Amino acid sequence: MAEEPARVLQARLGGDLVIVGEAIPARNRQDWSGLPPVRPLALVRPRTTADVAAALTLCGELGLSVVPQGGLTGLAGAAHPTADAVALSLERMTAIEPVDATLSCVSAEAGATLQAVHDAADAAGLVFQVDLGARGSCTVGGNLSTNAGGIRVIRYGMARAHVLGLQAVLADGTVVSSMNRMLKNNAGYDLKQLFLGSEGTLGIITRAILRLQPRPRFSTAALCGCRDIGAALDLLRRMRSGLGPLLSAFEAMWPSFHDTMSTGLPKLPRPLAGRHGLYVVVEASGFDPDHEPARLERVLGEAIEAGVVEDAVLAQSEREVADLWALRESVADFQAVMGPVANYDLGVPADATGALVEALEAGIAERWPGLVGVSFGHLGDGNLHFTAQIPDGDAHGAHHALSDFVYRTTTAHGGTISAEHGIGTLKKPWLGLARTPAEITLMRTLKAALDPKGILNPGKVL
Ligand code: FAD
Repeated sequence: MAEEPARVLQARLGGDLVIVGEAIPARNRQDWSGLPPVRPLALVRPRTTADVAAALTLCGELGLSVVPQGGLTGLAGAAHPTADAVALSLERMTAIEPVDATLSCVSAEAGATLQAVHDAADAAGLVFQVDLGARGSCTVGGNLSTNAGGIRVIRYGMARAHVLGLQAVLADGTVVSSMNRMLKNNAGYDLKQLFLGSEGTLGIITRAILRLQPRPRFSTAALCGCRDIGAALDLLRRMRSGLGPLLSAFEAMWPSFHDTMSTGLPKLPRPLAGRHGLYVVVEASGFDPDHEPARLERVLGEAIEAGVVEDAVLAQSEREVADLWALRESVADFQAVMGPVANYDLGVPADATGALVEALEAGIAERWPGLVGVSFGHLGDGNLHFTAQIPDGDAHGAHHALSDFVYRTTTAHGGTISAEHGIGTLKKPWLGLARTPAEITLMRTLKAALDPKGILNPGKVL
């Protein structure tokens, strides 16, 4: 009987917009979180904001829940469909307007891929400084709904910092258009913030005005071997004060990650010959290629002299920059090297990072002998990635027990259970570890005010 309202939806909105039954494509039946595929009640593929509004109004009338879908690359299960809800994919809303070079911004529909926004910015000599590995598939709507991060957050901030204006459709079909192009607008509440990072639970984003940046004229990098986390944090302080805004990435690899991945992928360049307590990739980029690259060399030289860095390689060419990044960027090969894994995206105050890594790596070895956990991440942002092997087949629910251990250990160190990927369904049981009861109550109050029938992405986040 549940199929009945979906058929009404199809009859009212038309077969071009609504697909039901077996005709729903496989790609819309699961996201990349690893959850098993599920056929949603129906798939709605709007072409315009008005289509989204009509679909939400009708879904409200019919009592149908809606799961918004972008590129489906999310890792927390937030866009994963459910059998009792309609999936609404923005895949046909991909238009990007010509770049406004004077105001350094571009208007894009929510279904445009991150790669398409990069290409549009690049053609205008500008850069959209939100970037991540899934750029070819993930979309503007998904990036903004998860407040995505990436490797240049240390300099440019998370996705939230790149949004000037937004258009969203509320659960009752109301279109809220805040297509602001100004950097400053304090006329009342900044409503767009409601939709940024709320994982499709408060509204459906249909377009955004994205802030672009001038394209740096050079980018260079160094790979540093440090004795330990204390030395790496000293290096971070030196790089921040010595490079100022030139510092564009500060990424760490613990020996667990470095040794596992370099052994598993022997063809990857390994620029530092010796062994170190921590490996750091420092990137500097700027606008004066004749003078500014020397600043990285100078700060690095001072750090070596002070004993903060044990050994370092400074890239002399674009090729060498790529070589220095290769190991840090090998994360797509986790499965190939480690077998079945669970990926954790943790936030932690920088000064607690070392203790947290020790507790996680020792804890997993002690509780699950034979399984390995590796640590790496955006050290400059206090964002630790921890990837751990899980038993093949996972017959005894080890994944859940492992997640419980990881999240409890992280929050005991003052950290949070999600720095980038969001809560979705996978982290929902542990939200209370990272947010106070008052914070969760306020989230529920906002949800009830914006979506009183609870039809938008139910069961996700809260
Ligand atoms: P989806 O997965 O489709 O959806 C994600 C969430 O947004 C869901 O809650 C969905 O309901 C909601 N949503 C989607 N579109 C809309 C919309 N228009 N309106 C309202 N809600 C919507 N994340 C990082 O932060 N940093 C990284 O460095 C990073 N690297 C990654 C690398 C890889 C290889 C992969 C696979 C993922 C990575 N991610 C990273 C995860 C990241 O969250 C997603 O890749 C991306 O931001 C999600 O975009 P998407 O379009 O695929 O969204």
